[in-house]
Amino acid sequence: MLTRLVYASRATDVIDDAFLKSILGSSRAHNPEQGITGVLCVYQRGNVFLQALEGARTAVNALYCRIVRDPRHRDITLLDYSEIEQRLFASWRMGIIDVGSVNLSTILRYSEKAVLDPDTMSGRAALALLEELTTSGAIVSHD
Ligand code: FAD
Repeated sequence: MLTRLVYASRATDVIDDAFLKSILGSSRAHNPEQGITGVLCVYQRGNVFLQALEGARTAVNALYCRIVRDPRHRDITLLDYSEIEQRLFASWRMGIIDVGSVNLSTILRYSEKAVLDPDTMSGRAALALLEELTTSGAIVSHD
């Protein structure tokens, strides 16, 4: 059975290239063998992560529990969890989206303000934003 989980968090330190490379390295090493696909949206200005994970229920739950224990981020908030019939992000072991390079009107379409603040977004809006960003070519790095 396929599931999708969307969560947001805040990095405990600056989100730099080394940090992102480390996350991509883990995703590259583990996501394919677990059948996990997804996208990770990065908003450096607010130190915010917004991530969607898709795959088998057991695999998605196991990875989420692992990610929640990662001390490099905090304030982890589960925004949405659903059983799904098909993946939205099947092309990516983990695609990275840099919100800093996205047109602010795109953010504003789904948020109260033109900043990415997952605390004020519904799970459905967060997922719709991720879907729009991937289909509009905002993925800057992927495997
Ligand atoms: P280590 O501590 O070096 O490994 C310990 C043991 O666990 C090893 O045997 C290793 O093979 C095994 N292991 C580690 N990770 C996994 C796994 N995912 N599945 C099965 N076995 C594993 N990590 C991901 O794998 N995928 C992601 O999509 C992902 N997204 C992240 C998003 C954010 C915002 C952050 C902060 C972290 C993310 N991580 C992700 C990293 C995750 O939190 C762990 O740090 C990472 O999975 C640990 O990998 P490691 O090989 O360094 O573990």
